[in-house]
Amino acid sequence: MKRMMAGLAGLVLGAAASAASAQDAVGFSVMALSDRLDFLRANTPVGNPSTLLYRGEGFVLVVDPGLEHTSGILAERVAEALAGGQLYTVTTHAHRDHMEASPALPRPLTQIATTYQFNGLAPETGMTRLSVDGEIVLGEGAVRIGSFPLHSSHTGGDLWVHFPQSGVLAVGDHFFLDRYPIIDVDGGGDPAGYFANIDWLVATFPADTRVVPGHSTFGPDEPRIASLDDLADWAGELRNSVSVIREMSAQGLSEAEIVEAGLGPRFAALNERPRFVSEERWIGFVLANPPPG
Ligand SMILES: [Zn+2]
Repeated sequence: MKRMMAGLAGLVLGAAASAASAQDAVGFSVMALSDRLDFLRANTPVGNPSTLLYRGEGFVLVVDPGLEHTSGILAERVAEALAGGQLYTVTTHAHRDHMEASPALPRPLTQIATTYQFNGLAPETGMTRLSVDGEIVLGEGAVRIGSFPLHSSHTGGDLWVHFPQSGVLAVGDHFFLDRYPIIDVDGGGDPAGYFANIDWLVATFPADTRVVPGHSTFGPDEPRIASLDDLADWAGELRNSVSVIREMSAQGLSEAEIVEAGLGPRFAALNERPRFVSEERWIGFVLANPPPG
């Protein structure tokens, strides 16, 4: 399993590398979401994973430490914020671009993930594991961390992270802002669960919740977060693209013919560079792993 995850991450990062090679210095673009909560959008040659840094009462939480490229900068920020408190990190899912920097964080460190994620990870000295396969709270409810109703989703073991006081929800890779998503079927994911869990997020959290996508804009654009409505609209457009692909397939077109014909201008924005998944790759994925109609 670990090998497959590494393989996928390589593919993901390789795809973005060509698209984002014009980017400048490696670092974070920072967006304050509240007095206590910062959104750090990575600027690296290989991708833009979202990291959150939360300064709680007596603790600091890092959501998705991100890539090795930004690990030194993150560790410095965390050490500054920590001031003797307890340090936690949570990974929304076990893909390299969201968790590679974990070992660079100060110790002692409590690492929060699903059992599924931990099963594919080698233990690290000074890192205590806290498995979450339901829901936990930190800071007397300032942070809620939970698993999804359907466990096969983006991967086989994803988590969401909610900050009720800030009205912010991190959904990991259940949201690729304005782009086609990766659904890691080899790593336990499933399109049916992915879409059902997005519906669940939209139906479950307060309507005015601000949503941090696993992948936001790419530099040099400013980092951007979204609303639950945006998440619902995005998933709706993905489902529409699935319908179009399915109709073309039902008319007898081969995968190559569908790619050649294209999905039309309506979906062009989802295919814009930089990106992780091209329209061609999305068509191939949908035909090989048909999401529910
Ligand atoms: Zn990702």
